[in-house]
Amino acid sequence: MTFSSLISNPNLLKAVTQSGYETPTPIQEQAIPAILAGSDIMAGAQTGTGKTAAFALPLLSLLDKKQSVDKKLRVLVLTPTRELAQQVFKSFEDYSQFTQINIALAYGGVSIKPQAKQIANDAQVLVATPGRLLDHIENGSVSLQDLQYLVFDEADRMLDMGFQTEIKNILKRAPKNRQTLLFSATFDDAIFDLSKTLLNDPKLIEV
Ligand code: AMP
Repeated sequence: MTFSSLISNPNLLKAVTQSGYETPTPIQEQAIPAILAGSDIMAGAQTGTGKTAAFALPLLSLLDKKQSVDKKLRVLVLTPTRELAQQVFKSFEDYSQFTQINIALAYGGVSIKPQAKQIANDAQVLVATPGRLLDHIENGSVSLQDLQYLVFDEADRMLDMGFQTEIKNILKRAPKNRQTLLFSATFDDAIFDLSKTLLNDPKLIEV
């Protein structure tokens, strides 16, 4: 399989080539068409499988479809840790470099004002850890009212770290009419319970 059989957007294909990727990984082969088709997904994937591109590329493709990219927050990616948030942000920056899409990053432990400015600066994609995201929502620097796509990356670690309450609070503020993608290295009862509250008729993907 080739990337050009999965993604038609030339801006993204150029970035894929620049990243040095030649063929899609198994999670990319399965997740990219499902996400483009509008399905919620529940995907089992370890770090190192190419899971970030498996959600970032189709989401960027959906955003870049419109000739003029609007200035609303459309994609929220939640990660358990600041390190993962930074990695995911960097991947979105790399893949979106030939588009007009703006990416923002929010995590705790650093001052909140510069982050608020960056988000207000027309970001369509926000990569965030749950606690800091809620701080921004309470401050009024982030609104989820126009959100279309919500991603939970390493959802099992989010639960292990005790983010249940934060996740509930974030969900209360996100539109019900959205597409939700859940990625987790492991699946246990807690993840299945969470998925029932998050996902609508999800497609299961395991690699
Ligand atoms: P991830 O599982 O998203 O953390 O990705 C692991 C590593 O694989 C990252 O360094 C990516 O840049 C790289 N990667 C992702 N997709 C591909 C691909 N199709 N071909 C080669 N490397 C890839």
